[in-house]
Amino acid sequence: MVDLQRQYHHIKPEIDNGIQDVIDSCAFINGPAVRSFQEELEKYLGAKHVIPCGNGTDALQVSMMALGLQPGDEVITTSFTFIATAEVIALLKLIPVLVDVDPDTFNIDLEAIERAITPKTKAIVPVHLFGQCVPMEEIMEIAKKHNLYVIEDNCQAIGADYIFKDGSVTKAGTVGHIGCTSFFPSKNLGCYGDGGAIFTNDDELAKQLRVIVNHGMTVRYYHDYIGVNSRLDSIQAAVLKVKLRRLDDYAAKRRAAADYYDNAFAGHPNLKIPVRYSQSTHVFHQYTLVTKDVDRKGLIDHLASKEIPAMVYYPVPLHMQKAYIDPRYKRGDFPVTEFLSEHVISLPMHTELDEEQLEYITTSVHEFLNR
Ligand SMILES: *Cc1c(COP(=O)(O)O)cnc(C)c1O
Repeated sequence: MVDLQRQYHHIKPEIDNGIQDVIDSCAFINGPAVRSFQEELEKYLGAKHVIPCGNGTDALQVSMMALGLQPGDEVITTSFTFIATAEVIALLKLIPVLVDVDPDTFNIDLEAIERAITPKTKAIVPVHLFGQCVPMEEIMEIAKKHNLYVIEDNCQAIGADYIFKDGSVTKAGTVGHIGCTSFFPSKNLGCYGDGGAIFTNDDELAKQLRVIVNHGMTVRYYHDYIGVNSRLDSIQAAVLKVKLRRLDDYAAKRRAAADYYDNAFAGHPNLKIPVRYSQSTHVFHQYTLVTKDVDRKGLIDHLASKEIPAMVYYPVPLHMQKAYIDPRYKRGDFPVTEFLSEHVISLPMHTELDEEQLEYITTSVHEFLNR
């Protein structure tokens, strides 16, 4: 699905030097590379504060802790996402309130959010799924009306532009009160291990977030809050510095691959190509088709027989995951999510796809559909 080896090959000298510098300095934790990466990311995003942390899941958890959410508070999120989003809500003994998604964009359904709000609702966690932003202006309006916090799960859309109705542009993850991202190796900005970051424009929140990622410590060995240990290590920061400089270029390569796929599949009676919003650029963390009257498993097996990977993100909606079975929800409650989990298929999507590979992949898909 991704080709990290080929990508590394193109940037090897810079990556190797960056990693070697960290080892030479032995400043493995909170070294200068972490600080400078943080500043470069702040500049890139136009965010006032970036707080590096251990991974994207921690970023979400720490955000909810910093906002002071309390057990029993309700947090609204989508039923069609990676489990981490709901996991941290449950871990903090908050109540995940799931809502269905839009069938075209796979992103949280705005009207369903409004219907899910109760007096106990404290926050909304929209997920910019597969690389494209949720309509954030509308989300912020809903949040303002009901006095809610908004935490953007931006683990899949770092680098996407968000375009406001007045034409002004900002980066994904900087519209809500807090934005979270992951630097897991296969993410759009991936390191060579685990990593994550939290963004905010709020000075007070930033202070709180920094304290919580560091054991709730305000002054060394004085712990005013219960925190966690969640750090981005210096070696990962060195890798990320090299890749951040190429993030826009990487997004362009993903978009070019998506354009190729679109051209190959547009208008096909059995495939629906990804719908692109006007209020967001798409950085194609995944290229996801919706199949119609297709033996999806057969297609995946056919592609596998030709050494083409294909994946289903996500095969089981959150409310049907064993650990999250809840008397509040049953099969049929989130029909769009349930439909998508049975019909989507994601094709290889990364920065190193060349025309020969794309032709081979698209031809192989057609081969299966035409027989
Ligand atoms: C990857 C991902 C996460 C979690 O990030 P980790 O760094 O793996 O902890 C959370 N939410 C979404 C939508 C993701 O894609």
